[in-house]
Amino acid sequence: MYIRIHEILSGSRVNGPGVRNVVWLQGCTLNCPGCFNRLTHDPNGGRLISTDDLCEVLLSPEFPCDGITVSGGEPFQQPEGLLSLLKNLRARNTPPVLVFSGYIYTQLLDEPVRNACLPFIDALICGPYDRTSPSAYDRFCSTSNQELYLLSDRLKKEDFSGLPLSEVIIDDQGKAIVSGLMQLRSK
Ligand code: SF4
Repeated sequence: MYIRIHEILSGSRVNGPGVRNVVWLQGCTLNCPGCFNRLTHDPNGGRLISTDDLCEVLLSPEFPCDGITVSGGEPFQQPEGLLSLLKNLRARNTPPVLVFSGYIYTQLLDEPVRNACLPFIDALICGPYDRTSPSAYDRFCSTSNQELYLLSDRLKKEDFSGLPLSEVIIDDQGKAIVSGLMQLRSK
């Protein structure tokens, strides 16, 4: 199974609890006003990678991590690819998986393949980005309408408190990748 990705980042400290390896998936039609990552919208952008190869990169021993984060774009707009990725990660005994989505939770429950993804996710932060509702600076969500759902007992709500607000990581190609809530709020 192949999945279309926008970016991979290792060693992030702002995309969930602890040190996390992150993949941003490509493609989103939700068009939240003030979206902070429009380059991820084009469903034909980014690049295709097999979910096996993506797991290898995310779980590379070169980049040990406390968990994997899947963001976007809208991860659930590639439901079969996302399900394959999540099952593959679970089969490799991956540390806790956090997924960000612009859908509200009931929209994920209502569609069978999206729903099938949920048992393989440890924590889900979902709801559309709403620039008119910035969250408090000590919250893990970028806007106050978004919700954290703990779908297993491998992460706790307290794990999400006190996360750094933003970071800049220079990748091995010398490219600066900026992420985090501070970046989201500045757009
Ligand atoms: S779901 Fe995310 S990527 Fe899609 S429009 Fe909303 S903020 Fe942007």
